[in-house]
Amino acid sequence: MALVEIRDLYTEFKTDQGIVKAVRGVSLDVDQGEALGIVGESGSGKSQTMYSLIGLLADNGYVAGGTFKFDGEDITPSSFPNEKAYVEAMRKLRGDKMAMIFQDPMTFLNPVLKIGTQLVEPLLNHTDMTKAQARERALELMRLVGIPEAEKRIEQYPFEFSGGMRQRIVIAIALANNPKLVIADEPTTALDVTIQAQVLELIDELKKNTNSAIIMITHDLGVVAKLCDRIAIMYGGEIVEIGTDKEIFYEPKHPYTMGLISCISNPEDDSKEDLKPIPGSPPDLLDPPKGCPFVERCEKAMRVCKDFPPEVTTFSKTHQCACWLTDERAKNNE
Ligand code: SF4
Repeated sequence: MALVEIRDLYTEFKTDQGIVKAVRGVSLDVDQGEALGIVGESGSGKSQTMYSLIGLLADNGYVAGGTFKFDGEDITPSSFPNEKAYVEAMRKLRGDKMAMIFQDPMTFLNPVLKIGTQLVEPLLNHTDMTKAQARERALELMRLVGIPEAEKRIEQYPFEFSGGMRQRIVIAIALANNPKLVIADEPTTALDVTIQAQVLELIDELKKNTNSAIIMITHDLGVVAKLCDRIAIMYGGEIVEIGTDKEIFYEPKHPYTMGLISCISNPEDDSKEDLKPIPGSPPDLLDPPKGCPFVERCEKAMRVCKDFPPEVTTFSKTHQCACWLTDERAKNNE
């Protein structure tokens, strides 16, 4: 049994302009101890898929269809007797078994509370530890994420920490209760390149040293390259390709995946070969295309792509792609 099971998820947002169909038929499994990367441009639906799972959609967002299971438990919003029961159950799950690492540590940390208080509180709220035990565990977590002089720094405020150190604290808070699932939403975007590498290294170590499943949400395929066992590529609210890291990097099937790969910079490569950004912009999800969502930007588009959504082709137990190019029936349709 997978730790996370998402089936045919549809998530929508009510706006003044109409209904934004942000997530359209996403299905995903994540196993305990596995690291999954969800990669796509802004507006591809990657964050909203995860926010739907953990009950953190904005007020105008709702799950319009599909089901979720977490650790064998049905946590689909409609499976709860009422909104209050759902909110309460999710609040408890987020403190105990699920944790989230957000992009900007300063929006997560309370600037007027000492780091120690912010680490100790979730332990007191979600376990039966005494204050002394919680403080000991907080120090242990600080050491685990590489904060030097933990005894001294536990008494400091967030502004006394650098950006990278603050993100380490956010990771320590996320790990406080040994969660089964850690979701990291663009955890390194707000950091400079050197600190980014250190934080990614830290997440990689945690992956090796804990049995938590990690879901890494990012727009940068390069970020998940070393870290993730499998990678899901999202575009226009859909998963267009999913596979192991090797399948995605060495045998990509979808033109969008190939485009993302050509956008990755390699710091060790000094050949100065130009990176090739993907021209065009993502589809308007107020009125999604009826065929392939990538059709307006795809150099390989065929007539069939505009009118009919591509079906999923399976290449291996782990590798699938939704593109007419890999569908025998589309031959001779250019
Ligand atoms: Fe391009 Fe057609 Fe494949 Fe979409 S289905 S990615 S438009 S070739």
